[in-house]
Amino acid sequence: VKGLKKYFPVKGLLGNAKAHVKAVNDVSFKLFEGETFGLVGESGCGKSTLGRTILRLLEPTGGEVMYNGRNIYGLSDREFRNIRQELQMVFQDPYSSLNPRKRIGSTLEEPLAIHGIGAKSERTDRVMDILQKVGMQLESYYRYPHEFSGGQRQRIGLARALVMNPRIIVCDEPVSALDVSIQSQIINLLQQLQGEFKLTYLFVAHDLSVVRHISDRIGVMYLGQMVEVAPTDSLFATPLHPYTQALLSAVPLPHPGARKQRITLKGEIPSPLNPPSGCIFHTRCPFATEVCKTEIPVLKEMTEGHLVACHLHG
Ligand code: SF4
Ligand code: MG
Repeated sequence: VKGLKKYFPVKGLLGNAKAHVKAVNDVSFKLFEGETFGLVGESGCGKSTLGRTILRLLEPTGGEVMYNGRNIYGLSDREFRNIRQELQMVFQDPYSSLNPRKRIGSTLEEPLAIHGIGAKSERTDRVMDILQKVGMQLESYYRYPHEFSGGQRQRIGLARALVMNPRIIVCDEPVSALDVSIQSQIINLLQQLQGEFKLTYLFVAHDLSVVRHISDRIGVMYLGQMVEVAPTDSLFATPLHPYTQALLSAVPLPHPGARKQRITLKGEIPSPLNPPSGCIFHTRCPFATEVCKTEIPVLKEMTEGHLVACHLHG
């Protein structure tokens, strides 16, 4: 992902016809095959928009997504159709993405039919097979979405992504709406399926303990920008960005003996309509200096694979 931008125009605000919400503001990072890349940050930081734009569910304002050596935004709709199958999404609320009037089986078969994959009987076999893989009874093929619990619906949401035989799945807060007891079942299922289907996950979440558990690497977003990227262990052991430090200091400690200084942030998240100059975090950063108000810090690699955008480092 190179220099990705996604702005949303906002009309009639403060009489400014050209106002934009900079939901994703110049984000670059790599997603490695077979990994789980966790994307964290407070709600409204742009992580869901980033996930959707990467899959071309939203058209970007600028930037590139290189996949198999080609910029997916440069492909025609026709060329992109074949790649679409390999890039799937799982949503936070699977219910709203399932047609309430359709049986699960026909909802799951639909994308296969659209892409002209297999004969009808083969499509049914494939859906039955995937339903089993996500731990659903075969009879659920004939049932309607309202007949299932939240956890079961999320299994169905996963089945719908898997039926296309994807390589990358963007999981947008896939367990946030579920009871804690169900969350771990879905997380375990995601991990099991990743091994079996050789999947790469972009895992969007605000729950740091879930992200820590599932991710190989983590990216921290603030106001549409990526402020730190690191291997999971490295991020939790030595968070470098003051924003990351504040996020982590709000999480309960896993070991009772561990000590941690709590960092509280001043003020609210600024409006993405009018992000601060220089370092976007400077209005809330306890370590901000004059240079932070004017100069934009770029992501720099500090130790192996650990990148941070902050004038305190490098
Ligand atoms: Fe804080 Fe300055 Fe670092 Fe931004 S660049 S996080 S304001 S110290
Ligand atoms: Mg979101």
